[in-house]
Order: sequence, then structure tokens, then C-alpha cells
Amino acid sequence: MYWDEREETVEQARLQETQMEGLRETLRRAQGSSYYRDLFKDRRLQIDDIRKLADIEMLPLTTKDDLREHWPWGFVAVAREELIRMHSSSGTTGRATVIFHTANDIKAWTHLVARSMYMTGMRRGDVFQNMMTYGLFTGGLGFHYGAEEIGALVIPAGAGNSKRQIQLICDFGTTFIHIIPSYALYLSTVFDEMHVDPRKDTKLKAAFIGAEPHSEKMRRTIEDLYGFKAYNSYGLSEMNGPGVAFECPCQNGLHIWEDQFLVEIIDPLTGKPLADGQEGELVMTTLKREGMPLIRYRTKDLTRIIPGPCDCGRTHRRIERIKGRTDDMMIIKGVNIFPIQIEKRLMEIPGVGTNFLVLLDREGYDDYMNVQVEVKREFFTGDLKQLEKLRRRIVEELKSDILITPRVDLVAPDSLPKTEGKAVRVIDNRKD
Ligand code: AMP
Ligand code: ZN
Repeated sequence: MYWDEREETVEQARLQETQMEGLRETLRRAQGSSYYRDLFKDRRLQIDDIRKLADIEMLPLTTKDDLREHWPWGFVAVAREELIRMHSSSGTTGRATVIFHTANDIKAWTHLVARSMYMTGMRRGDVFQNMMTYGLFTGGLGFHYGAEEIGALVIPAGAGNSKRQIQLICDFGTTFIHIIPSYALYLSTVFDEMHVDPRKDTKLKAAFIGAEPHSEKMRRTIEDLYGFKAYNSYGLSEMNGPGVAFECPCQNGLHIWEDQFLVEIIDPLTGKPLADGQEGELVMTTLKREGMPLIRYRTKDLTRIIPGPCDCGRTHRRIERIKGRTDDMMIIKGVNIFPIQIEKRLMEIPGVGTNFLVLLDREGYDDYMNVQVEVKREFFTGDLKQLEKLRRRIVEELKSDILITPRVDLVAPDSLPKTEGKAVRVIDNRKD
């Protein structure tokens, strides 16, 4: 059941001792980077001032902007020839951040991904098809290495090319897939078109879904469509990529691997730490990384620590599924709205297809929201009355959740723009 039982069920007290050792080591290693060396000097910070884990609050937070401003080498803490791999974030705004790894960093990352997948039941002999973009994005190589470590047969399919994906699944008896949730919905329509039933005609056992926020409802829908378990996988390139936090078979929160990362939840506005159970921004410190240690990195992801132990016996604490990013939050007529709220509601309405897009516009001083919703093929008939009924229902359902009345347009199946990576859910045309 465990990839390494001692590591996964270590007592919290012992885990915290390891974290303290790791933190000291990280602070020492960070002095190898020009960014942290200068920062510690400017702020007159001494490594020895940090005596217990809670002292970390004395250290400043690190942001994505800091990474950008000191791009590309400012955070590298080792000699250039120690580095063997570079990755970058898939950021759509501004310059993508880059992360460098030593050989040990890659080993440690691979170990975390293997541990995560093993937890869900993947074993030697399984066939793992990775439908993520390979290359700079970490979801390709990160999962690839982890699966090879377990000894699974890896099919590095990459993203897109849906018919070929299905062909591979059928021809080679794929048992586990790694897939972006929005793409999993779309792919199920291609299964339909090809008259292949993923529940009966394939050997699929489970999927790892991640890289973008999705609701519990979305997960259950994917599970029903495919007839397998879909495990939430969370990571970000700044903390390696996948293998940061992962669901166990209990599917009740994601174990965040605390032997590699020190985890804090802060109030995104004040920066103050929040207690377990309270929702805020996830902040992480690497504990073992050599090439590019990061101290108190602001992920911009909103979640909370789920208090109490998990039934699976693992002691690493759990985070709740990510609600969204602080910068995904839309403010319309003073109301704060996350795209995942809209997704969740839409998923509950029969007739709604696999994709939607939110457009924000301003007329005079008034903001308005237009939601374009793809309709299921069988609903997209000439029956205008039925379509209008569906449209109205969507308006009402969304209104009851987000409190403002959106304009809703129904569009043909498969007509909204698709990306190979993370779905684009919102286009904000408002000018400040
Ligand atoms: P990147 O560094 O480009 O891989 O993007 C990482 C970001 O993707 C994270 O900071 C999250 O905002 C998002 N992300 C990754 N995995 C998940 C997940 N399972 N649920 C929600 N958001 C996710
Ligand atoms: Zn568990």
C-alpha cells in the first residue's frame, strides 16, 4: 500500500524535526544564490535566528515577481555545472518563471511522484499513458519519471490528438492516464464518436487529474463517464511540478508531502499566518532542494489544511482541493467570483456540454458577465423552446450561486476555443 511506509506514516513530531533540519539546510543553501544572500544582508537576517519552525514568519515571503525580476539565474544556489534540468511555469501572463534542478533534485522529485502514484494503486505491470504536454511544462517529464520509477510501462503520448490517444488506450491496454480535467470531458465525447465505451472496451483503472482547478462535481462526472477513479494531483513548477500534493484512496483532501515542503496558509491580504482549517493562500518552502531553494514562496493558490488524521494512516497533512488562484478571482459589481463556482453549477445541469467561457465587459460604468456554454450534442437540435428553457435555467442557477445575473449564450458543441494545456475560462475585456 505504501511506496515507503516509514516515510508516509512517520509521526508528526518526527516529521517536524526533519522539517527543522531541512529548513536549516535550505537557509544555508539559499545563501548560495545572489537573491537570498542580498536579501538576508539587507534585512540583517541571521540563519541562527531561526530556531524553531514558527520562526519562519520572521523571513520575508518570496513572490513570482521576485522570480521574474531575478530571472534567470538570481535564485540559483549552486555552480552552473551542477544543474541538469530546466523547467518553466506555463504562465499565460508575463514572463514564465524558470526552475533549475540538480541530479539530486530530479531524484527527489521522481520519488515524490512515484510515491503519489503508488498510493493510488499504480504498480509495475501497469500501463501509464501521459496525456500532458512534454517539454518545459512539468506535467510531462515529472509524471514520466515517476511512473518509470514504479516500473510501469510508460506511453509518452503527450497532449492532444484525441483519436490517437484512444487508439493507444485500446491497443496497449492502458490502465492509468494523466489528463487535464477539462480535456477528460472533451475526450469522452471523442470516445462516443468512435463508438468506444471507456467503461467496457478499455482496461482503464484510474486517472490522475490536475493542473487546473476543478470541482468535486467535475471529478465525479469524469469518474462516471469513464467508470474509474480520478485522483486529484496538485503541483506547481516552482515546487518541482506534480508530486506536491496528491489524493490517497480516501479522496478526501490531498496529502501534501511535508518531508519535502514546509507548508503555511496565510491571509493573502495581510500576509499573516492562518490556523489549520482556515482558508487562505498556500505558501511553501522547499526543504531538500539544492539547485534553487525557495523560501516562503507564495503559490497564489487558495486552499486550507484539513484538520485531523486521514483514514489511510498517512501522517502528512491534507489540503483541500484548490478553490482557485488569488489572481483568478473576478470582481463584478463588488462580488467576488471564482471560475470554479461557475463550473460546479454548470456541471449539475443536464444538457450542458463540456466547455464554457466567461467574458467580462464594461458598458459605461457597468460591468457585466457573459457566460458562453456549450450544449450537449443531443440537446443541440432545432427545438428552440427546449434550448431557451435550458438557457434560463442556467441563468437562474448561476444567479443563485454568484448573486449577479449573468448573460448566458448557448453555443454549439465543440465550438469554443480549446487549448492543449490548461483551459482558459475567463476573458476580461474590461479596461481600467
Ligand atoms: P505550473 O507551474 O505552470 O505547472 O502551474 C501550477 C498551477 O496550476 C498551480 O499553482 C495551480 O494554480 C494550478 N494547479 C495545478 N494543479 C492543480 C490542481 N490539482 N487543482 C487546481 N489547480 C491546480
Ligand atoms: Zn489519506
